[in-house]
Amino acid sequence: MATETYGKKQRNHITTHASKPPVKDHKKSADLCPVAKKCGGCQLQGVSYEKQLEKKRKLVKECVGDVRVLSPIGMEDPLHYRNKVHAAFGRDRKGNVISGVYESGSHRIVPVEHCMIEDERADAIIATIRSMLKSFKIKTYDEDSGYGLLRHVMVRTAHATGEILVVLVLASPILPAKNHFVKALRDAHPQITSIVLNVNDRNTSMVLGERNIVLYGKGYIEDELCGNRYRISPNSFYQVNALQTKVLYEKAIEYAKLTGQETVIDAYCGIGTIGMTAAAYAKQVIGVELNPSAVKDAIANAKRNACKNISFYQDDAGAYMRNLALLPKEERVHVDVVFMDPPRSGSTETFIDSVVLLAPKRVVYISCDPHTLGRDLDYFRKNGYRPVECQPVDMFPFTDDVENVVLLEKTGTDGMRRGSNGTKTVTRTKIERTGKKNEPKRKSGDVKSGDRGYQKELRKTRTAPGSGRSKASKSQSGKRSH
Ligand code: SAH
Repeated sequence: MATETYGKKQRNHITTHASKPPVKDHKKSADLCPVAKKCGGCQLQGVSYEKQLEKKRKLVKECVGDVRVLSPIGMEDPLHYRNKVHAAFGRDRKGNVISGVYESGSHRIVPVEHCMIEDERADAIIATIRSMLKSFKIKTYDEDSGYGLLRHVMVRTAHATGEILVVLVLASPILPAKNHFVKALRDAHPQITSIVLNVNDRNTSMVLGERNIVLYGKGYIEDELCGNRYRISPNSFYQVNALQTKVLYEKAIEYAKLTGQETVIDAYCGIGTIGMTAAAYAKQVIGVELNPSAVKDAIANAKRNACKNISFYQDDAGAYMRNLALLPKEERVHVDVVFMDPPRSGSTETFIDSVVLLAPKRVVYISCDPHTLGRDLDYFRKNGYRPVECQPVDMFPFTDDVENVVLLEKTGTDGMRRGSNGTKTVTRTKIERTGKKNEPKRKSGDVKSGDRGYQKELRKTRTAPGSGRSKASKSQSGKRSH
């Protein structure tokens, strides 16, 4: 989920405060979007919000099998929640500059002026950029000819701090009259706190390239979530719906039942948000994430929040877990709780087999795709973990996506032995074998956990097991009552 492709907006995690049922029926406003059909981003246009939640509950129920599914937590106001907005730039038949989303299944741009689920400040900034192109003689990029400069604009807004990052995705690192451009944009939108030029010179369906040049400000935004402050760089994943993320994380922490004594793994950790939220209630946390940009942010975030009982590893989550599980028992840390929050494609058998071998008491599975969640829960069931409860959270109103957080508890006696309910056996030999088969090929540019640059940075935040916060400081850390 850290990377995005054309044609489909990134949809990640989803929700309503149980205590605050959705109050408005947004059927009317839903009907107002003039490009709903062509865009295809909001599959539930015209459906009342209550019905949307009901549809999502049914879908989740169908996918997850025998587990208690709670009513989805929806939003009080389910409009304009997306804190990340992408616009593709191009020209219409008459040669006018247009910006918007790709028509579903194609690379034809559907012009979008106002979107009912996107942050309105972001839409206004994109409109201003569109109007500036002519006077700055900036051509939009043409995918077929490879001619032109501006491909996309991405705007990220921080819910709590109000910071705004504008990323201009260009086909080349040279933006003519860049200082004037930056000044004109900032004059029109003084709320902008940073502007970055992202170079995407490849013929690819990825929106962002790897290289970022800061034109103004810090080059990232900072946001606050569940009592911590996070830096979020252009290429790092961050949940798109800030209000619902808080709800989601609080449920995840509640499910984990942490007492301050636990060793916790935050797998697929992104910029470290779940791990750092959990760290206040645990002995130590280990975060694992594949995207190097997100790991850099996570390390900076741990320092920023003075979170000393957390360490991060840049690695494939399955490979990391397998290596941990294969360590001799006396050398490996005992894992009490695993949080896992994989991308839409779900997790892997290697990952789950390794979890089984590590035998944590609880697994808290956060998922943005009920289908892959259902598949993975089945695999957990067969290997001695029982899904106890599933809380859908509506992070993506008006779309058919839904986020879920599921508590799984260990039923077998030991990951190495057959579970009491006749579940399968996971052996070291099995994960040695399946690991090789499942491990994704590394792309060039990926950094392995053993690479020097990262180890150096990692050492700064890594602490020895047991050297986390003291019991006294933990009890003063304001444990949340759930
Ligand atoms: N838990 C984070 C991020 C969730 S999105 C949060 O709540 O913000 C899923 C994350 O998994 C992304 O950051 C993505 O870069 C990462 N990811 C994708 N494939 C991975 C893999 N094979 N191993 C580890 N991390 C992976």
